[in-house]
Parts: sequence; C-alpha cells; structure tokens
Amino acid sequence: MAEAAPRDPWLLTPGPLTTAESTKRAMLHDWGSRDSAFIAMTARVRRRLVEIAGGGELVAVPLQGSGTFAVEAALGTFVPRTGKVLILVNGAYGARMARICQVMGRAHATLETPEDVPPAPAAVDTELAADPGITHVAMVHCETTSGILNPVGEVAEVVAARGRRLLLDAMSAFGALPVDMGTLGCDAVMASSNKCLEGVPGIGFIVARAAALAGCEGHAHSLSLDLHDQWRYMERTGQWRFTPPTHVLAAFDHALELFVAEGGVAGRGARYARNCRVLVDGLRALGFETLLPDHLQAPIIVTVRAPADPRFRFETFYEALSRRGYVIYPGKLTVADSFRVGCIGRLGEAEMHGALGAMRVTLQELGVTDCGPVAVAGRTA
Ligand SMILES: *Cc1c(COP(=O)(O)O)cnc(C)c1O
Repeated sequence: MAEAAPRDPWLLTPGPLTTAESTKRAMLHDWGSRDSAFIAMTARVRRRLVEIAGGGELVAVPLQGSGTFAVEAALGTFVPRTGKVLILVNGAYGARMARICQVMGRAHATLETPEDVPPAPAAVDTELAADPGITHVAMVHCETTSGILNPVGEVAEVVAARGRRLLLDAMSAFGALPVDMGTLGCDAVMASSNKCLEGVPGIGFIVARAAALAGCEGHAHSLSLDLHDQWRYMERTGQWRFTPPTHVLAAFDHALELFVAEGGVAGRGARYARNCRVLVDGLRALGFETLLPDHLQAPIIVTVRAPADPRFRFETFYEALSRRGYVIYPGKLTVADSFRVGCIGRLGEAEMHGALGAMRVTLQELGVTDCGPVAVAGRTA
C-alpha cells in the first residue's frame, strides 16, 4: 500500500513561504520561452503587477533572481553614476542597500535608526536640505529584520517636497499593504514572487513610472541587472532577454489569480492582519514579549524576545517545532536575542493557533515556565 506523502511543514518565515497546492501544480509543464503562450503569460503577470501598484503610467519589469537582484538592479538602473542615494537604515535590508551601493560604486549616505525605531521624516528633510547632491532616497517599507512598518507616506512627502526621487524596497509588503505609486510619487517599487504574492522563489520585479525608467538608459553598471535594457527588450519582443524561469513564472501567474480571487491587497492584507493578531495575542498569552508595540508592527513577521530562562535554547525550540510541522525563523537583530515568526503565505488562523499550540507543548517539554526576556537597558520599544 502506498504511504501518504508527508505534509510539507508550514513555513512561518519571511520567505520562501507556504504556497497553495494549485500553485505548486502550475509548474508541472514545460514552456518554450519564445512561445506565444509564454509571451502571453509574461504580459499577464506584468499587467497584474502594475494594477497592484495603482495602475496609470506604470510599467512592471520582472527579473530573473531573488529579491536582492531586483533591489540591486533598481539602484544601479535608477541612480545615475553621478547620482547619490540617501538610504534609510533600520535593519538588515536597509543595510544591504548601502552595501550594494558600496559594491557598485554609487555615492550614498545612510540615515540610521535602531531596529525598533522608524526613520523620522523630519530627519530625512534635514539630510536632504543639507546635501543638495542627494538625488534619490531609498527605503524599506516593512523592514523584515524586525517586522517594523516604516512611514512610507510621510517620507515620500518630504522627498517630493525637496524635489528628489524615491525608491522603495516593498519586498515583504507588496500585495499585503497598499502601495499607490501615483500618490507616493515614487519612481520604483521593488518586490519578488515569493512573499505576499505567494508564488515560488525565482523572480524579482520592479514596478516603475514609465517616464522615470525611460530616462535611465546607460546608467546600469551591469548587463544582466540593467532594468532599462530588460524593459526595452520586453516591450519590443514580449520576451525575456535571457533564459526566463519558466516554471516560476507559471506558478506566479497562477498565484496572482488566487490573489485577485482573494480580493487583492484588501483581502490578502486582511487575512495577514488576522493572522498577526492571533499570533501576537497568543505569544503574549504564553508569556513571550514581542519586540514592537502594536502601532509599529506590520502584519508580516513578528519578532519575539528570547526568554531569559536558561532552559530555553532556540535550537532545541526550533527543532521541536519543526518536528511538529512548523518552521519558524532565527532572529536577525543586532541589539537583542530574539526569534521571528511569520504570518504570511498560504496560512490562516487555524495554522496560527496550531503553531501556538506546538509552542505551548514544546515549552512544557523544555521546562520553561516563564518566557519573559532579559531586561535590556535603554529599551525604546
Ligand atoms: C526578502 C527581502 C528582500 C530580498 O531578499 P532575497 O533573499 O534576495 O529574496 C529584500 N528586502 C526585504 C525587505 C525583504 O524582506
């Protein structure tokens, strides 16, 4: 008798995420990359991405690779070689943009705040007033390091008032939190197939103002990461410049259909918000302390302070939860010992309750009765 296939674990991570069965099944075909069916699929995906970002004079340009490839491509394509970027940093992904600029030799400055503190729009204004050489501001929508929601609307206003251009890493928010690029006056938003749009990993993309992208010819430091070239080629031929991840695009196309059926950003955002509420309330009921106060918590991923009890060892906790079918994520904070639990992907309240139940049993096994964290001096959250 054939054994039932073991169920995949639930991924409570920042991505790749749990995907729908039908999204996985959408990959069970082979497509010719120059075939009309694949060309139509590319066009459909690009059109849907534009709609999610507010429509109008926008274009979507998909790129082979993970999200970082799209971020690096956007910084290299939009910032001219004589330009300068102000990067707002309150976590690993902001810091990664600074590293990208360093590697490709784009002038940049950073405005840093602690991992649990959003950037202050007034501080951005001060930096822009002091340095007229800054042409662009780059920021992260939801900084996935902590799960903090950064004030995109307020920063966008400051950037526009100073006549500079905004680039937004909305990787972990796009599809769950509204981004209206027209209202924001933003040149480009960067995201990927495998976060809130619930596709499989392998495609990064940008949605950009067509007029802004049109002015970027010759900026890029790299051929494969030249978004202007990728865009022009796609417009001309309907095809990708180099071998496309055909199966990933097919899964993405299907995932976007599920996204529309769920009610788009409103529907998906509401499910993630419910997941996050259940998760945060449940963690607190177990005695855990979350890093962020509710008003700074994006409904994407929750950072939990590690319990001070020496019987709590993250590796043991992680392994025990994994055996029970729930995969969580180590912390990435530099300031505090922590771990993270995501609430995005093809998951609902039942899976959140399931994960919390697995945590309760595991804590009992470990003999941890008090989940309170080590007191941290000078805490801001
Ligand atoms: C996931 C993520 C990225 C991209 O990471 P990859 O590992 O390259 O996919 C970039 N920025 C943010 C905010 C992210 O959450």
